[in-house]
Amino acid sequence: RGWWGHVKPAPKDPIISVNEAFLADPFPHKINLGIGTYRGDDGKHFIPQCVHDAEMKIQRSKFEESNSSAVRSKFVQECVRLAYGNDLNVVREGLFAGVPTLSGTGACRLFAEFQRHFYPNSQMYLPDPTWSNHHNIWKQAEIPVKTFHYYHPDTKGLDFASLLNDVKNAPDCSFFLLHPCAHNPTGVDPTEEQWREISYQLKVKNHFPFFDMAYQGFASGDLDRDATALRIFLEDGHLIGCAQSFTKNMGLSEHKVGCLSVLCQSLNQVAALKSQLQLMSRAMYSSIPFHGISLVSMILSDPNIEALWRKEIKVMAKRIKTMRITLRRCLENLDSSFNLEHITAQVGMFCLSGLTPDQVKKLEKLFHIYMTPDGRISMAGVTFSNVDYLANAIHQVIR
Ligand code: PMP
Repeated sequence: RGWWGHVKPAPKDPIISVNEAFLADPFPHKINLGIGTYRGDDGKHFIPQCVHDAEMKIQRSKFEESNSSAVRSKFVQECVRLAYGNDLNVVREGLFAGVPTLSGTGACRLFAEFQRHFYPNSQMYLPDPTWSNHHNIWKQAEIPVKTFHYYHPDTKGLDFASLLNDVKNAPDCSFFLLHPCAHNPTGVDPTEEQWREISYQLKVKNHFPFFDMAYQGFASGDLDRDATALRIFLEDGHLIGCAQSFTKNMGLSEHKVGCLSVLCQSLNQVAALKSQLQLMSRAMYSSIPFHGISLVSMILSDPNIEALWRKEIKVMAKRIKTMRITLRRCLENLDSSFNLEHITAQVGMFCLSGLTPDQVKKLEKLFHIYMTPDGRISMAGVTFSNVDYLANAIHQVIR
């Protein structure tokens, strides 16, 4: 019997396709602006020194031989502290249920599973646009996806009025996914005032805020400032779901470390949610590799290593900001007719450039420059040695 005749190929993932095309191109000066991991000015994947320090300390202390479940709990506690700050009651009183996850993707997927189990008739509202995999994740969990207005293509900024309208018009008790900082793919974040308003309106409608924090530190260079949205929502009394990833801000893409946490009202709820999350994750992938958890746990709990990480994140965020300014200046020098303000107004890893799919194709064919068809530039791929070439290429394709 033929078992698989009815299986058709899945549509190609836009980000993976760009990477494959880049790798297949033999041109020596090709540029990869597709992939969203942080790279240094030498164009190479960067592993911060704090990770090496944590590695050494783990080896010395035989950290991995200690009680694994205690380390996992400590890991979750440190992640929650990183998200909400040191001094808050939720952290002190342990009013959160969390589990280590297979990076940020796994945290989202596990939450979607949890949502389906306990709110089977709910929907997830995603920003338009958002990281393309959000759509796949909630669809695979069989949760219907809706979108809410986020980005305005004319201003290349936030469409705040429409966003609020969508929040107000969604049925009460809907789930909303929010990027707390360095929004992917737009680089557009609400201001603090706007977050306060969004939090207020979500509360009025009893919506559930789910924050996907894949880039903490990359928007402002300051880990606490980048968590402002979460802290505003907490102050307003929301019970928040939060996905955290250390893929980008600790350069840990190989280790796939993330955390899913959900705030609760009582310790009984904590015990119930934690055991349910553990049961679901065990059925899906058992547990995640221990070494990555140990590394992150060590970085977050050793004051010297944590201080070093905080410095290194500043340097990474600053490099990206410098490349935004430099790219804009190079285009200005070419007398480009291109609207340039948003290049420096947007923050974090990505710049939604406004280049059309056609122009993106030309950049690829004529200049060996690769980015997703929506015109998203991963600023981490821009360096002092390729920025002139990039600016010139953009200038040529928009003429
Ligand atoms: N959420 C967003 C918004 C992302 O951009 C990404 C990574 N591109 C993720 C989650 C997934 O993170 P990870 O690579 O840690 O799985």
